[in-house]
Amino acid sequence: ETPIDAEKIRRDFPILETIIHGDKRLVYLDNAATTQRPQAVIQAVVDAYEKHYANVHRGIHWLSEQSTNLYEEARVRVQQFLGASSPHEIIFTTGATASINLVARSWGDVNVKAGDEILLTEMEHHSNIVPWQQLAERTGATIKWIPITETMQLDLASLEHLLSSRTKLVAITAVSNVLGTINPVAEIVKRAHAYGAIVLVDAAQSAPHEATDVQQWNADFVAFSGHKMMGPSGVGILYGRESLLEAMPPFMGGGSMIRRVTLEGFEPADLPDKFEAGTPPIVPALGLRAAIDYLEQVGLSRVAAHERVLTRYAHQRMSQLDSVTLIGSDPEIKSGIVTFVMNDVHAHDVASRLDSVGVAIRAGHHCAMPLHKKLGLVATNRASFYLYNTLEEVDALVAGLAQIHEWRATHRGRRRT
Ligand code: PMP
Repeated sequence: ETPIDAEKIRRDFPILETIIHGDKRLVYLDNAATTQRPQAVIQAVVDAYEKHYANVHRGIHWLSEQSTNLYEEARVRVQQFLGASSPHEIIFTTGATASINLVARSWGDVNVKAGDEILLTEMEHHSNIVPWQQLAERTGATIKWIPITETMQLDLASLEHLLSSRTKLVAITAVSNVLGTINPVAEIVKRAHAYGAIVLVDAAQSAPHEATDVQQWNADFVAFSGHKMMGPSGVGILYGRESLLEAMPPFMGGGSMIRRVTLEGFEPADLPDKFEAGTPPIVPALGLRAAIDYLEQVGLSRVAAHERVLTRYAHQRMSQLDSVTLIGSDPEIKSGIVTFVMNDVHAHDVASRLDSVGVAIRAGHHCAMPLHKKLGLVATNRASFYLYNTLEEVDALVAGLAQIHEWRATHRGRRRT
């Protein structure tokens, strides 16, 4: 397999040519927050509006039929991407957050009762915490936490102690958006299923970067967002095992999700329409399809290999900076996420100084406040890579950090005198 030629790939991404702050080339290292789009995806969105746009599922007219066909083709494309057995298992939502909330409301309200337990991990994003806390509030269920080890892995021995016949659901991230840790999803699913628990996988940080196979995971629900994998914002996916989705009541009510409505009540539509009330994200879904085409054309294993090279290099160079502390999993076994703190410099100051030299990274708690509390930190910095990032961009990040170190040293020196 040939390595990715990132310089060549970059030419497909118009936004990466942006010059900021007068003369600084944009170095975009905030891909865990959201990624950029190649021309092919932008064009797919433009084409949709220029040539194919009408509402789906409703019209008898030619344009609506076109639009509906393309929308349903996009669903099949997602099905193939995930290795799902039927397009009925693919629900278009507005994003990973919406997908998780759908499960918490629809599956959760019916299946979770007072005294039941929900297992989450200490490394979850708020979007895979709060919907379950809300469900626990509604039902009287209890949340338990799978801890992380010193090496920032999930503590699977604790998982074994936490699982019991009370466990109704295990909700885990496939990849931590802070630590980069890649969790052993299939193994966790196997253990959870042995206790009759259902497993939801938050694949927001994995689906864009490594191949997903829902059969191999044997997961019951999988959620992710289009915007983190070069697709448009405003579209996400919920994969659900067909038997589970069949048994679940609809979450949102409205048009399209019904077979029949009378003054007395309604009868829900079949899958997948049952879970797609109202006008769905039609154009974003077509854009997502183009993003999947692009991603698979490049090859997910090449994307993962490229990110590994960047992550390894970033770790190697950043660990040489005295004032930088790296936080997260070993670079050889993690995703392309490099989280760190700088001694005596607030994360927001680090990010804003890096911005002034053109380097975009994230600062804060990254929607993982419980994890930061566990680590004893309020805020961290995070650089995150994608297929278009280069070693030179890692150099720009490191040069920026070295400058901050210098600035800090003189600043302190001056204060002392
Ligand atoms: N889970 C994880 C691990 C994430 O990183 C994110 C996005 N930061 C989400 C869920 C939520 O995704 P969205 O905001 O697109 O719904």
